[in-house]
Amino acid sequence: MTLPRLASVGVFVSIVCTALFAAAPTPPRITLTVDATQAPRKTFHAQLIIAAAPGTLTLYYPKWIPGEHSPSGPILDAAGLQFTGNGQILKWRRALDDGWTINVEVPPGVNEVHASLDFISETQADQGEYSSGQSATEKLAIISWNQLLLYPKGWTANQIAFAASLRVPAGWKFGTPLPVASQSGDEIHFNPASLYTLVDSPVLIGEFLKAVPLNKGQTPVVELDVAADSAFALEPPAEVWDRYSNVVKQATTLFGATHYRDYHFLYTLSDHVAHFGLEHHESNDSREDERTLVDPELRILHASLLTHEYVHSWNGKYRRPADLTTSDYQQTMQDDLLWVYEGLTEYLGDVLAARSGLWTPEQYRDNLARVAAGLDHHTGRTWRNLQDTADFAPELYYAPHQWESWRRGVDFYEEGELDWLWADAIIREQSKGKKSIDDFCRLFHGAPSTPPVVKTYTFDDVINALNQITPYDWRGFWSARLTTHDANAPLGGIQGSGWKLVYDETRSEIMRAWEENRRETDASFSIGLLVHEDGEIEDTVEGLPAARAGIGPGMKVVAVNGRRFTPQLLRDALAEGHNGSQPLRLLIENTDYFREFNLDYHGGEKYPHLVRDESKSDLLTDITRAH
Ligand SMILES: [Zn+2]
Repeated sequence: MTLPRLASVGVFVSIVCTALFAAAPTPPRITLTVDATQAPRKTFHAQLIIAAAPGTLTLYYPKWIPGEHSPSGPILDAAGLQFTGNGQILKWRRALDDGWTINVEVPPGVNEVHASLDFISETQADQGEYSSGQSATEKLAIISWNQLLLYPKGWTANQIAFAASLRVPAGWKFGTPLPVASQSGDEIHFNPASLYTLVDSPVLIGEFLKAVPLNKGQTPVVELDVAADSAFALEPPAEVWDRYSNVVKQATTLFGATHYRDYHFLYTLSDHVAHFGLEHHESNDSREDERTLVDPELRILHASLLTHEYVHSWNGKYRRPADLTTSDYQQTMQDDLLWVYEGLTEYLGDVLAARSGLWTPEQYRDNLARVAAGLDHHTGRTWRNLQDTADFAPELYYAPHQWESWRRGVDFYEEGELDWLWADAIIREQSKGKKSIDDFCRLFHGAPSTPPVVKTYTFDDVINALNQITPYDWRGFWSARLTTHDANAPLGGIQGSGWKLVYDETRSEIMRAWEENRRETDASFSIGLLVHEDGEIEDTVEGLPAARAGIGPGMKVVAVNGRRFTPQLLRDALAEGHNGSQPLRLLIENTDYFREFNLDYHGGEKYPHLVRDESKSDLLTDITRAH
């Protein structure tokens, strides 16, 4: 590991003073016992045994959560804190300048502190964020160890050893990359692991849990552990598993090496947990709708989630920005290179979804068109450049979704995807088709294969590696991409790979799936309105007709051309008004008042697509072809 060592002079001195014959301090070894038998109640109990010396024992609850790029450790959900020594209750107080720091008074004669804490987790899928969002249902749960432990100050996450055990509800199965030492009944004992590895190794538990091998007969082993709220949700057509096997084949071909001992996709299918994906070296914690594998439309909608998280094992976990690589969870992570960490992953994740057959080439292009069209309407680029979306990521991850076109969000994902496609097109063009971004990946993320280690990089390392593949003004290219205030999206990659972004009246399969899944009507590219099925305006697009007329997010569409609003009525009115002369009349409710707005719009429905530019060669089809 290349994690920087934490200065521990203060701890060293105190140990020397309090122990008569102390030599070099021994890194702590902590016993952690987790009881998850109350998972359906969404509460978990943890007990820790931590070696201590008389004086103040400073303990941390993990604050900066890897992969979440923000101080998102759910300290509000840590309850029932109690510390004892020699059977006596010990006094504790939280640090005044940091809510994640707990100081425990250890009296003379006590050399071991017993700590207990309950993790009382979110009870609704729309509360909390990412791994601190709802993680348990009647039938399954995801155990994120960082939510269930404290660790002592003065040591890096690599130095502290944890011997963890877990008790699951009767009869539940489990999947995890954490090596198991023994199992008896519903109690699992894991091999001792560093705090770093423990936090990097969640456990998926559930009544309905299936382990699907994805690369039979090969090493390192890759397995899809999928738990769902029903047995039915785990029985998709056999070709679905084949496509996920293709993901492993295509990704390992792309990078040419692996950096895990073995790998577990931990996939949770439930309508009652928070939906997102979180990467780890040897696993990913990904969560989607219960019917994602059995419903063809949901399969398309969520096709690139697991591919994105799997790419992170190489890009994000093995290769990681130096200033994002911290020695423990208390140190501030710096997010300025997330356009590589997340942007390149977004690009490769989507490409792998196509190469593995999870998407057809057309579905890949329709998704790219949707991404490009959305960004092309983010006029907030004129004041906030791409670099600032990364620098400010710890806050932007939690930004409201209203005013997105003007505020911008974590655009380094999707705009990063467009930029890396552009970089790929440049490499292919400059090398006359001999090289591609695949060569960059093999150089930057590839051989030799290793167990999980971190190899850090800086901006200069990325530029140097690109130059090794194809000499070009990469510094100038990326500086321009990161600092431009051009109002429009960077479409150089789409154009350079032989395609054009256009709008027509036909909704693509993927646009339809998005709208239906989110129960919204997306008129973003026509009148600039995103409307929930009940008429609530989720967002308006700055500069387009609805916003120009004075309509804003949070208002409600009550009627369209004098008739009560339905999503279909709005769609029909847009189509009917195409090339007409009458304005589109929207009756809007705003803070208990009603007002009619007339929109002088006659462009019809508008949905994004890519069409071929026959004057250029079709690189995009080459990019998405299986290897
Ligand atoms: Zn990611």
